[in-house]
Amino acid sequence: MLPFIRSDLAKFTAYKPHRSSNSAEQVGIQFDRLDTNESPYDLPPEIKEKLAWTFREIIQSNRYPDGGYETLKEAIAQYVNESANHSSCAVTTANISVGNGSDELIRSLLIATCLRGEGSVLVANPTFSMYAILAQTLGIPVVSVGRDESNFEIDLKAAESALEETQNPPIRVVFIVHPNSPTANCLTAQELTWLKSLPEEILVVIDEAYFEFSQTTLVGELAQHPNWVVLRTFSKAFRLAAMRVGYCVGHPDAISILEKVRLPYNLPRFSITAALIALQNHQLLLSSIPETLSERSQLIAALSPHPALEITASDTNFIYLRLKPNGLQSTEVALKSLNQTLKNEGTLIRVLPGGLRITIGTPTENTRTLKRLQIALANLEY
Ligand SMILES: *Cc1c(COP(=O)(O)O)cnc(C)c1O
Repeated sequence: MLPFIRSDLAKFTAYKPHRSSNSAEQVGIQFDRLDTNESPYDLPPEIKEKLAWTFREIIQSNRYPDGGYETLKEAIAQYVNESANHSSCAVTTANISVGNGSDELIRSLLIATCLRGEGSVLVANPTFSMYAILAQTLGIPVVSVGRDESNFEIDLKAAESALEETQNPPIRVVFIVHPNSPTANCLTAQELTWLKSLPEEILVVIDEAYFEFSQTTLVGELAQHPNWVVLRTFSKAFRLAAMRVGYCVGHPDAISILEKVRLPYNLPRFSITAALIALQNHQLLLSSIPETLSERSQLIAALSPHPALEITASDTNFIYLRLKPNGLQSTEVALKSLNQTLKNEGTLIRVLPGGLRITIGTPTENTRTLKRLQIALANLEY
């Protein structure tokens, strides 16, 4: 370790997504990439054409982008209002901050709330790993609670005690994914009641990365809860993972703080343009969602009868599979072995200590997933 580096960073390893697919590409293997919940579909050619045209004719690459993102924010506000299907509290550009992926916004929220030893964060595992990773790289303590084994509801008693017992620094932020990744479930009424009961000095971050698949949003609650923010991304249903665009919806005061801590020109002009064009064409881009949802039902229906598998409902574009304990082999070892077998066959999925997360791909990919998984399960002798 270099002597000028912060001592607590020695224990971290860099985040390496798609590790195997990148190396495999070099030797020419085509993988079904079902490990990061992206859309299986690239932008349609006519949208790419429009983007290319804009790049050629309009964008001046020697000039800094519009650092205030007003046009993009207006388009986002309009989309958020349209999709919230209630008219009582329309959001405006003052309610929106944009980030280089929602990952940047997560980091900005952490910087704005917990640095200088002022706060810890609470997460309910299993959940999106980036909250804890980003917090730890900033030296922010992470408190974890578990979830119910059957419906993945947050252990609210444990969360309640964590809030009471965590001092020096106290919990300042609660991170929630709605619906959760990797477990694919939406918030229950009980969880929602608990979130509403949290005091105003705790920031509640509701990550709606999968909103377009679940069609349930808490944006309508923001007006009553100035301590809540909603995160969304263009990386999933909008097919723009390569462009890195996310946004945060919240109280104007919270938004102006995010604006203070973000880097100037944090979004490249090309990404701004891509997000704008995506919003202008959202009906076309989101028209693949019904297929994803019906493919999801078919995959769940086909896998559910398997005696070793435990499959729960999904409100997202991925499914979560667990293995029923059989007393012979550790489920964690068996899950890793399934993951490895699938990888050898050319299907990348995400293995977690408690289960497997599989993104819904194209119908062809899903057919392959089913076949490969059934063979892998048969060979597992689990
Ligand atoms: C995929 C995902 C994101 C998206 O992150 P970006 O940085 O916008 O690509 C955010 N939160 C969750 C829970 C996700 O699964």
